[in-house]
Amino acid sequence: MDPLTSLPILQLHDGTVIKAKVVIGCDGVNSVIANFIGLKPLKQSTMGGARGFTNYENGHGFSPEFVTIRKGHVLLGRYPIDHNLVFWFVARPITPQDLTMSKDTTKIISSALESVKGFPREMLEMIQNCDVDSLTFNDTRYRAPWELLNARFRKGTVTVAGDAMHVMGPFLGQGGSIALEDAIVLARCLATQKRAEVALDQYIGERRMRLVQISTKTYAIGALLETSSVVVKLLCIVLMVIFFRDRLGHTRYDCGRL
Ligand SMILES: Cc1cc2nc3c(=O)[nH]c(=O)nc-3n(C[C@H](O)[C@H](O)[C@H](O)COP(=O)(O)OP(=O)(O)OC[C@H]3O[C@@H](n4cnc5c(N)ncnc54)[C@H](O)[C@@H]3O)c2cc1C
Repeated sequence: MDPLTSLPILQLHDGTVIKAKVVIGCDGVNSVIANFIGLKPLKQSTMGGARGFTNYENGHGFSPEFVTIRKGHVLLGRYPIDHNLVFWFVARPITPQDLTMSKDTTKIISSALESVKGFPREMLEMIQNCDVDSLTFNDTRYRAPWELLNARFRKGTVTVAGDAMHVMGPFLGQGGSIALEDAIVLARCLATQKRAEVALDQYIGERRMRLVQISTKTYAIGALLETSSVVVKLLCIVLMVIFFRDRLGHTRYDCGRL
């Protein structure tokens, strides 16, 4: 922060200095801006995930839906991108061996197949026939819902948006969508308020409960997968039944017009 004007000064890797009126940190899960603002470090989930794309030369024939199948601690997700291409992921608890796996595609495929043993054959074939160059495996981190409830997302005229603000596990597949909502609300607030601080506070105020709700839902789904504790499972189920009875309710949220 400039000690005279209290406005943010950015120093880029190439040495360039930018004196900014407003800084919006949309720099993802390893956000430098979130650290600068003073947000707490992210929490580490015990779940990790393999993901990739599979191309079906003659078309996959799947309906254009996000399909998930859960068995025990394993969740498999499939999203068709177009008539030929499908994105999939396998989320499961991470093991110490996984730490060496991030770039070894043969190991990623064999461990993904091992995790989904007994799943429908078309799912196994989808993983077996994937484009190996598209494969990745990593752990997941998240900002806890209870932290979103009272986190200070603004320091002067610096704020955050997207994963930098509210990264969550991939269990609902909504992180990108709500990053877009952030962008719409933020643009609207900046366009309608004269003072940047007031605009940013309005943005944070409008977003907070939406973020708490969707990250709580994601957290509950993730916890159901992760935990072996019957009590935690029961709590999550009660949470889902009371607050999130409508499975797709989160997709009908209206963040307003740009
Ligand atoms: C397995 C998985 C599946 C998912 N599926 C879905 C889904 O189906 N639907 C959905 O909506 N979301 C999904 N998501 C979530 C979605 O990918 C993220 O929420 C979304 O990408 C967040 O967007 P972002 O712009 O905030 O951050 P990012 O996409 O991470 O972009 C941040 C950008 O900032 C850049 N950057 C970082 N640091 C700096 C720096 N210091 N200086 C300059 N630039 C920097 C990075 O290079 C990057 O380009 C999924 C996530 C995962 C892990």
